[in-house]
Amino acid sequence: MSTNNKPVVNLISKPDNMLKTVYTACRTCYSADYPINIYESTDDEEKMLKLINRVISSGHYSTIEHIQVSFAISNVSRACTHQLVRHRHMSFSQKSQRYVKEKGQFDYIIPPTIEKDAVLKEKFINFMNKISDQYQEFVDAGIPAEDARFVLPNAAASSLVASLNLRELIHLANLRLCTRAQYEIRTMVKMMCDELIKEEPWLKPYLVPKCERFGFCDEDKSCGRMKTRDQLGF
Ligand SMILES: Cc1cc2nc3c(=O)[nH]c(=O)nc-3n(C[C@H](O)[C@H](O)[C@H](O)COP(=O)(O)OP(=O)(O)OC[C@H]3O[C@@H](n4cnc5c(N)ncnc54)[C@H](O)[C@@H]3O)c2cc1C
Repeated sequence: MSTNNKPVVNLISKPDNMLKTVYTACRTCYSADYPINIYESTDDEEKMLKLINRVISSGHYSTIEHIQVSFAISNVSRACTHQLVRHRHMSFSQKSQRYVKEKGQFDYIIPPTIEKDAVLKEKFINFMNKISDQYQEFVDAGIPAEDARFVLPNAAASSLVASLNLRELIHLANLRLCTRAQYEIRTMVKMMCDELIKEEPWLKPYLVPKCERFGFCDEDKSCGRMKTRDQLGF
């Protein structure tokens, strides 16, 4: 059972020299000098950021593909991880429902909309208990976990290690921090971004919803934070 609905997200791997690596990639495109000389030539953060901001704003995204980061994520629903794994430039290693047999009540996530209503919450929990009993009955009858899991719900909690490059992380943030994204993946991606921003504050302006990056909302139903394309007349 799990009643703590908040995802657990930790940054477990990132390069130490992120800014310098991105700067070297950017500068190499416009310099006759060897990349190694560029890499060793400066520690001037302001100078590096000026070039990086210009290059990223102009859509020259290969320069940010050199940075790979990894996150350890748990206490998220299968509904959430199913959305995350749609991102094709990410790498995942997820707790298997084939190899890891649930023992006793499986962990699950309760959506806040249900959590806040005592009556509905009780019904939700009772239903999870019933599913758990059915799952155990199948397992006890010798059904392999890979088949018994067919009765497990979207609410079942999962754990994974997720890795991605900086270009994909910015894309992920732009899409999934949008208020149109489902609350749980939005919460999880925000935590991923915050973990990295703690270590690399220069990334803050990029790890934002797409409307903040591009200055308008491209959704059909806008939350009102930014004007839509229609409102702007294009
Ligand atoms: C609010 C919201 C609602 C959604 N609702 C639904 C839904 O109802 N049903 C549903 O099925 N999905 C839904 N999705 C998922 C969505 O369709 C995408 O699959 C998911 O967001 C991954 O985005 P992506 O393809 O841009 O990114 P990634 O897979 O992370 O790829 C990044 C970028 O790489 C490029 N790229 C990757 N693969 C290809 C390719 N094969 N060909 C060309 N370019 C490629 C594209 O430029 C892409 O934007 C939703 C997503 C959001 C954010």
